[in-house]
Amino acid sequence: MTQAATQPHANTDSDWHLCYLGLGSNLANELGTPSEHIKQAVTQLQMHAQIKNVRLSSLYASKPMGPQDQPDFINTVVELQTTLEPLQLLAVCQQLEQNAQRQRLRHWGERSLDVDILLYANQTIQLPTLTVPHAGIKARNFVLVPLAELNPYALIDGIAVTKYPLTHEQSGLNKLTEPPT
Ligand code: ADP
Ligand code: MG
Repeated sequence: MTQAATQPHANTDSDWHLCYLGLGSNLANELGTPSEHIKQAVTQLQMHAQIKNVRLSSLYASKPMGPQDQPDFINTVVELQTTLEPLQLLAVCQQLEQNAQRQRLRHWGERSLDVDILLYANQTIQLPTLTVPHAGIKARNFVLVPLAELNPYALIDGIAVTKYPLTHEQSGLNKLTEPPT
């Protein structure tokens, strides 16, 4: 008998869902600079009991999508495995935003931290508060490029990320760091 079989509540591999989060920041506050906000969020994810195998893409600077009178964003994509259900993972994402003291200023405006669920396993989710794959994913090279860096085989609506043309479009995007090893 395996050890897992003797522990009725032990997680099995099938309980761990492979997920991708998109993180962005373009506002410093007393808690840190944009890249510090992102690193602090990654640390909190790594420390979460129901999250493991956290991997981070390179950091990228990107032009803002909405109002142009705001600083460039720092973006990254995080790969992780989690036993959290989708809405629980969304709550964790929103807690990370609150921990960075995110404030609602204006639509698509500056923020200390934005954490979006890009992909949750191979699930399609349409809930009032959660759309997965994330609605903007295919139109944003600052998401597609780092996602492809982490996993070129990641599927968005059943199609590999590298098949989306914007994955190969570097305009408005500057790689700032190499992925941590
Ligand atoms: P945006 O990321 O588009 O700038 P917000 O971060 O302000 O917008 O999020 C607005 C709402 O989007 C959240 O309250 C959340 O319920 C909803 N939402 C829907 N799908 C997702 C997703 N995949 N990841 C994160 N939030 C999502
Ligand atoms: Mg968001």
